[in-house]
Amino acid sequence: LADRLQQTFNKLKKKGKITEADVKEALREVRLALLEADVNFKIVKQFIDKVKDRAVGQEILGSLTPGQQVIKLVNEELTELMGGTQSKLTISSSPPTVVMMVGLQGAGKTTSSGKLANYLKKQNRRPLLVACDIYRPAAIKQIQVLGQQLDIPVFSMGDKNSPVNIANAAIEHAKRHGNDYVIIDTAGRLHIDEALMDELIAVKGQVSPDEILLVVDAMTGQDAVNVAESFHKQLTLSGVVLTKLDGDTRGGAALSVKAVTGCPIKFAGMGEKLDALEPFHPDRMASRILGMGDVLSLIEKAQEGMDQDKAKELEKKMRNAEFTFDDFLDQMEQVRKMGPLDQVLGMLPGANKIKGIQNMQVDEKQLARVEAIVKSMTKHEKQNPEVINASRRKRIAAGSGTQVSDVNRLLKQFTDMKKMMKQFTSVQKGKGKKKFKL
Ligand code: GDP
Ligand code: MG
Repeated sequence: LADRLQQTFNKLKKKGKITEADVKEALREVRLALLEADVNFKIVKQFIDKVKDRAVGQEILGSLTPGQQVIKLVNEELTELMGGTQSKLTISSSPPTVVMMVGLQGAGKTTSSGKLANYLKKQNRRPLLVACDIYRPAAIKQIQVLGQQLDIPVFSMGDKNSPVNIANAAIEHAKRHGNDYVIIDTAGRLHIDEALMDELIAVKGQVSPDEILLVVDAMTGQDAVNVAESFHKQLTLSGVVLTKLDGDTRGGAALSVKAVTGCPIKFAGMGEKLDALEPFHPDRMASRILGMGDVLSLIEKAQEGMDQDKAKELEKKMRNAEFTFDDFLDQMEQVRKMGPLDQVLGMLPGANKIKGIQNMQVDEKQLARVEAIVKSMTKHEKQNPEVINASRRKRIAAGSGTQVSDVNRLLKQFTDMKKMMKQFTSVQKGKGKKKFKL
């Protein structure tokens, strides 16, 4: 979706003036792109009509070119389509806040329960996970293992009690032990069936959850929307957790879930790791879809994972183009703390266009090798990588016990990274001054 829209917008950007025909053509492309992304056709029609209405007869804002203005409109309407503002988790005035996770099998309920608990724990909350999936073999074990990994308590009563009883007892347990959030992981089926719905309705009736979050797999596109509609009819959902957005390049589900069901997307799952859950920001998602990269999310992530002083120092260096191999090593360590690199890079505007970056995985082994290579460089080489010629490469490889090809690859990655940093800083600097710096 992003690629296609970007092409269209690139064409628009070049024009100083746009006519109504230009707008029409651009919107035709947007329409096709949305349909291709598996967005519900009714939503697409409404969307296009709205943008058209607003575009026609609008005064041109002084600071924007007409092309930018259309992009701005599309961006605003996309944001609106996904709920406008970020939708926060409800907090109960009489703790514990009860969150019930529902959804089809494999959607990511158990993983998301763990991630959500982890997210809350990081905010100094005291979540309790509850194992209410008594059907799937090893389901209880799965959530217990998650709890152990995260150091978060898991309440379970085996598979002989009914989910209603388990949920009820869990809340009593939470009250006694001072847990302020209870996250109930429920069972799923491959398809929606009545027995499952009856069970979920019974649990809901017993514990009156503050939140009923439907977990849906973004990769299932239009199906995700249908699932959301059925669950919402039966359970009156309070929100959606959209998982596997890391694998969904089309964005169709994100675009139609809110519009069809009226339920806001509250969280997005961005990977298999337990910290890969983010509050869903419609505006950021819209920017991502339009190919502007999710700079805000990245900055937030960077702030979480980075040592602040180091980050500042690094930023200064990048701005002055003083970035050296020592910083590179440092940076790799920092980035590693932020999470899987491909995930971090996916948020950078244009990062997917830098060749070689995709293959740049930071694992322990590679990091050790990189460290060895960098340490085999002289001080002068580290600060002036451009002097590293063929014979120096040979010497460095020998000194670090690696191959010349390893050294070559690292030098290439270093250059790419430097390029990326430049891009990152320029976007960051542009931020705030002008919203649509395209
Ligand atoms: P459940 O049946 O709904 O409880 O689903 P699980 O939580 O067991 O997850 C099913 C699979 O999806 C597991 O392999 C998870 O690792 C994977 N998964 C869950 N969320 C995400 C996500 O956001 N991104 C990716 N890539 N995988 C996910
Ligand atoms: Mg499960």
